[in-house]
Amino acid sequence: MLGPVSGGPAFDDDHPPAKDLIADCVHCGFCLPTCPTYVLWGAEADSPRGRIYLMNQGVSGEPLSDSMVEHFDACLGCMSCVTACPSGVKYDRLIEDTRAQVERRHTRTPRERALRTAVFALFPYPRRLRLLRGPLRAYQSSGLQKLVARSGLLPRLAPTLATLESLAPKLRGVPKPPRRVAARGRRRAVVGMLTGCVQSAFFPDVNSATVRVLAAEGCDVLIPPSQGCCGALSVHNGRRDEAQRFARKLIDTFESTGMDYFVVNAAGCGSSLKEYDTLLADDPAYAAKAAAFTAKVRDLAELLHELGPVAPRHPLELTVAYHDACHLGHAQGIRTQPRSLLSEIPGLKLHEIAEPEICCGSAGIWNVLNPAPAASLGDMKARNVLATGASLLVTANPGCLMQIAAAAQRQGGRIALAHTAQVLDASIRNLGGDALLH
Ligand code: SF4
Ligand code: SF4
Repeated sequence: MLGPVSGGPAFDDDHPPAKDLIADCVHCGFCLPTCPTYVLWGAEADSPRGRIYLMNQGVSGEPLSDSMVEHFDACLGCMSCVTACPSGVKYDRLIEDTRAQVERRHTRTPRERALRTAVFALFPYPRRLRLLRGPLRAYQSSGLQKLVARSGLLPRLAPTLATLESLAPKLRGVPKPPRRVAARGRRRAVVGMLTGCVQSAFFPDVNSATVRVLAAEGCDVLIPPSQGCCGALSVHNGRRDEAQRFARKLIDTFESTGMDYFVVNAAGCGSSLKEYDTLLADDPAYAAKAAAFTAKVRDLAELLHELGPVAPRHPLELTVAYHDACHLGHAQGIRTQPRSLLSEIPGLKLHEIAEPEICCGSAGIWNVLNPAPAASLGDMKARNVLATGASLLVTANPGCLMQIAAAAQRQGGRIALAHTAQVLDASIRNLGGDALLH
């Protein structure tokens, strides 16, 4: 149930979805079979074309109805439709502007507000997330988690909590990264590195592997501990002011470091960082700084591919299924670079996953806000992943790793999971394939 609407036309003059971008849609429907909500529900209003139609109603003066908001909210922001669209419709711009309008102009129910407030008081704050590690580790290791799972009560009493619980990865202690790590051998670049929120709290070993790989490939790595959230979750959920605050702080943190590149190992963060120039375009104090910062942003695989390998690769006898995180594949167009980096490892066999364009259902916090359909999408993805027969699933986004791990476990399937950085690290350090199959 949605709350009352504030009245008046759906959108105000502060960056409504642009009429000319809406007009680019020729209603061909090529995007429909690639849209996860259309695949799930088969309803036109839950397709990209249907949502663009609703945006058009909004810019034509219709009020922001409960049902409109429901269909906008249901969009995962996976950008599969952007890849599929032959007319080049900028759905990413359209939904971002629409979401910012919804957040300002639509009154949510107290329950929805409480859930969103809790999520945004926690997820974009790495220190707060790290505080959860202790209790979570105790919960996992005390046997309480198994007891709760056996009782089957949690999903019935508190589906959101059950989703969070099922997503939490198995935690182990990893030391904090140092502030600066020197390149091994000849220095080829100085890179600033984003440690991330979920990544630093729940996947610190992915960050450690990223630092080691960058150093081995000739990069000085700068990791200021004062860095915060990049604002990705906020901007993807219409909280533009909050995202702008995070962006300004991150730019300030790295501005005087002298970095050549700013490297990101989380796909969702990378896609937002590459749009800082748009996010801060109206801010006279930051527009130029944001454009300069944006030009330096690289996904880890993108940068490593651009630099070319210098560290010798050792064999990893592994069969790997590579999953394109939506914000890497659809939003940044990065598909060949990670595959090429993995294929260069001797002994490693790469398998493709069926229906690669369909989102796994993680989508930032979409799985927390929409636990049941997210689980259905996770199950579809896990079935396709397990059908490859691979022993290791590799992807470049913490959300996808957690979502697919939980779904594979529900299906009783066994597949190890790793970030691209961990596979490269294991090869460079000659750890052998078994090191990744725990
Ligand atoms: S972003 Fe994803 S969920 Fe949203 S309309 Fe496009 S394909 Fe569908
Ligand atoms: S968004 Fe693109 S693919 Fe989808 S209906 Fe419009 S023009 Fe066709």
